[in-house]
Amino acid sequence: MRSFLRLSIGLLTLVLVALAAYLGPAHLQIRGIEPRLPTEQDLRTLATIPNGPVSIGIARSSSQSGPDRDLNHSIVVIEWPDGRQFMIDAAMDKPTSEAFGELIAKLSPGMGPVKFSGTAPEFLKDRTTKVAGVGVTHLHEDHVQGIDAFCAKRGKGARSYQTLWQANEHNLHTKESARQLESSCLESVVIQGEGLLTHSDFPGLGIVGLGGHTPGSTLFAAYVDETLWLMSGDITNVKSKLLSNTGKGWLYSTIFVPENTARTESLRLWLSAMDQRSDIEVIVAHDFAAALDSGMLPLER
Ligand SMILES: [Zn+2]
Repeated sequence: MRSFLRLSIGLLTLVLVALAAYLGPAHLQIRGIEPRLPTEQDLRTLATIPNGPVSIGIARSSSQSGPDRDLNHSIVVIEWPDGRQFMIDAAMDKPTSEAFGELIAKLSPGMGPVKFSGTAPEFLKDRTTKVAGVGVTHLHEDHVQGIDAFCAKRGKGARSYQTLWQANEHNLHTKESARQLESSCLESVVIQGEGLLTHSDFPGLGIVGLGGHTPGSTLFAAYVDETLWLMSGDITNVKSKLLSNTGKGWLYSTIFVPENTARTESLRLWLSAMDQRSDIEVIVAHDFAAALDSGMLPLER
């Protein structure tokens, strides 16, 4: 009996040590990434920049229904007066969406099959070649993999815009998407600094390093139709949880995706305070219904 107990304790210790070796570096890294956030007034300056964007819409590339939530993979497209487009996130192609959905169903029982609606170029159609800029809210497969389908139609000529953190700080879950983006059709532009970042290529577009969910998690902001839209990626997966300041749970934030939970909480509070304003809408990447409730126009195939 004694030796059985010793063996069990030994095995448990081994598992814990292996888990710590596997996840520890990612946890240490993300705890050190807390870039300065802009104020609401900083973000409102985007409304005053000449030749800013003129339209914004959201496509639902795929979706999966569950008992207490729907998981959607979306693509946001912003248009400038000269017809140039900026795409935020690329979702996934059909086989990758289905494989990703199977993994999600294993991790969260009750999730139904994936309903695939289309890749970015299938929603963008003729506008695909007018996409001059691409940004991703973070380097996870479900936001980046679709870049291949996009590049197959677009060819060279568009640039990707990243913060220093998204370009340089990777962990076990972001390495592969970082490599995919690097070897894609997109020419890389890395913007230095923290707080509200901008680039002359897209006047009125704001880029903010967030951290929290991944080292390179990034917010994109744009003022269109008298509304300041804040694309917050996966700081929460559901808009209502952002507004109620509810985290993703210990298992998710510790084991599945190493998060800086103090940071994700301060980001939830920062974002939900701004969402209270009548002319500011936070768009949560996986919550398509909430984006439509906010008044964002759906892109149809
Ligand atoms: Zn995601």
